[in-house]
Amino acid sequence: MKIKSAEFVVSNSEVEKCPKNNLPEYAFIGRSNVGKSSLINMLTDRKSLAKTSGRPGKTQLINHFIINEDWYLVDLPGYGYARVSKSSKQKFQKFITNYFEQRQQLVSAFVLVDVRHKPQPIDLEFMQYLGESEIPFGIIFTKADKLKPKAIERQVDEYCKELLKFWEELPPYFITSSSKSIGKDDVLEFIATTNEE
Ligand code: GDP
Repeated sequence: MKIKSAEFVVSNSEVEKCPKNNLPEYAFIGRSNVGKSSLINMLTDRKSLAKTSGRPGKTQLINHFIINEDWYLVDLPGYGYARVSKSSKQKFQKFITNYFEQRQQLVSAFVLVDVRHKPQPIDLEFMQYLGESEIPFGIIFTKADKLKPKAIERQVDEYCKELLKFWEELPPYFITSSSKSIGKDDVLEFIATTNEE
């Protein structure tokens, strides 16, 4: 898919206020600092469409961008930031589950994980929640430039093994690096194909 246009539409703190039309939507989510903003900028060929976060955990908003006037890219807040209080964690959870449970036009979520890290309970729990709620998702491994190909393979294998402990089938996954522009076409092709269905 060629990106012809990419524009910010709106930021919301409530799912009810998100765009009302029925364009297909793809949501990006992951732990703070995983490289989500950089990935969105790489996918859309824009330097600063999504703001790379100086202060992780600060922006708790649902950000809609319209791509090629055809589909929405949704930037969801990063989770798992250690310094937020328990009550704001609960508020955050509600906010995110509202989004996933109410957005009918969501075609797929993408859960971002840093390829260097071992499978983390917070990410696995989140994927389990998506699976149980029957929300389609793919996994995007980020920062692939930080490891050698063999090490990437090992990390991905370990992740897959972990997932197969509770699922029979693996979700689609993508290996990316925003600094080296790796994996961009794979993610965009996945969006193009699922968007047409
Ligand atoms: P966000 O908090 O998930 O939106 O993450 P950012 O996109 O702001 O990135 C967090 C940090 O990781 C920044 O210092 C980025 O420069 C760095 N980063 C993001 N993507 C990559 C990548 O593909 N490779 C490398 N080496 N660093 C990255």
